[in-house]
Amino acid sequence: MDTIGEAMRKQYEAIGISRQVLDYCEKITDGLTDRFREIDRIAEINQMKVLGAMQKNHVAEMHLGTSTGYGYNDEGRETLEKVYADTFHTEAALVRPQITCGTHALATALSANLRPGDELLSPVGKPYDTLEEIIGIRPSKGSLAEYGVTYRQVELLPGDRFDYEGIRAAITPRTKLVTIQRSKGYQTRKTFSPAEIGELIRFIKGIRSDIIVMVDNCYGEFVDLTEPSDYGADMTVGSLIKNPGGGLAPCGGYIAGTKECVEQCSYRLLAPGLGQEVGATLGVLSRFYQGFFLAPTVTAGAEKGAIFAANVFEKLGFPVVPGGAEPRHDIIQAVTLGTPEGLIAFCEGIQAAAPVDSFVRPEPWDMPGYSDQVIMAAGNFIQGASIELSADGPLRPPYAVYFQGGLTWYHAKAGIMMALQKLVDRKLVTLP
Ligand SMILES: *Cc1c(COP(=O)(O)O)cnc(C)c1O
Repeated sequence: MDTIGEAMRKQYEAIGISRQVLDYCEKITDGLTDRFREIDRIAEINQMKVLGAMQKNHVAEMHLGTSTGYGYNDEGRETLEKVYADTFHTEAALVRPQITCGTHALATALSANLRPGDELLSPVGKPYDTLEEIIGIRPSKGSLAEYGVTYRQVELLPGDRFDYEGIRAAITPRTKLVTIQRSKGYQTRKTFSPAEIGELIRFIKGIRSDIIVMVDNCYGEFVDLTEPSDYGADMTVGSLIKNPGGGLAPCGGYIAGTKECVEQCSYRLLAPGLGQEVGATLGVLSRFYQGFFLAPTVTAGAEKGAIFAANVFEKLGFPVVPGGAEPRHDIIQAVTLGTPEGLIAFCEGIQAAAPVDSFVRPEPWDMPGYSDQVIMAAGNFIQGASIELSADGPLRPPYAVYFQGGLTWYHAKAGIMMALQKLVDRKLVTLP
């Protein structure tokens, strides 16, 4: 055993990871060298994309400052929005701390661009859970349904293929906006690549070019070389406490898209007549800029963690989505543990590996809006930030855990090893 190898074993033992677990995991890591090299190269290209956008827009020290009150003439805010627009290759962007989360960004984009009598279409099946209340699929106060916006959905075909004929039939003269979700979220379907989304956009625009296409890009930013905006999406939407915040943004969301759509969003988020001219940034800009600068690297680390987890658990016989060798277009990894004990042990391991609240033991609880108990693990610097190492899953068969994030690859790796350690300690897993 070389000196570094021995030091590594000692250091992992000190945080509670056994030699047996480390040795098994090191073999997995050794097998991922080529895959990781490809991720590093994509991160490198995306890093240059962000750097280039910052240089082109002459980001200066004065832009890292703050504004208060109305936030008039906040050049830092205006420049950051240009940096996002240039990175996503769009005409405009709205990037604000007043956008509370991904759900809020999506709600803003939808309600800003739909009017009574319009119809919204999802051609990729059921959208993310929180969108059900925005749209009014589940009756809810203030939903689009209450404002006279109707909704249609076209299910995916077997093999997660787009049902082109079904989509053509579902488009009516009232169809105003199409929403496409890139990531699988908490479903078992695959995540779509920006190029696949592009094919769907081309098909829809071929039927009626004036239909607005919005893409829910949550967890997808910087995983690929391109974004949905590169394929004609009118709005690309996401959360700053996921990938593009780089772990530093303390809150916020973004909408990158056409000038017309983004302008509509600014009037909905703020007020008609005010729009993008106002909105105090209250000191968060330096973290927004620095987080966006780090985002390609942070996303790459989280993606490596997801691939590592897929390979660690797949080789032990657990079903994983996506598979260990499959291409990826987001940072979420699902692992089916098969038993409630397995799910709980996994989440306890993720929690025990956290930098914050590592001494807390997560327990299943009755979460509002869910029919089964849910267990969640996260020891975060920023509340609920899922670019940080986190895992959750409902306590129902097949006892799948959804795992994502990790501000560094090393931390993501430690979290997964700790999860495995808990399973080994409870004799739920035997290592080869
Ligand atoms: C996380 C997520 C959202 C919602 O984001 P929040 O910040 O949790 O409100 C929407 N869509 C997808 C696909 C997501 O992953």
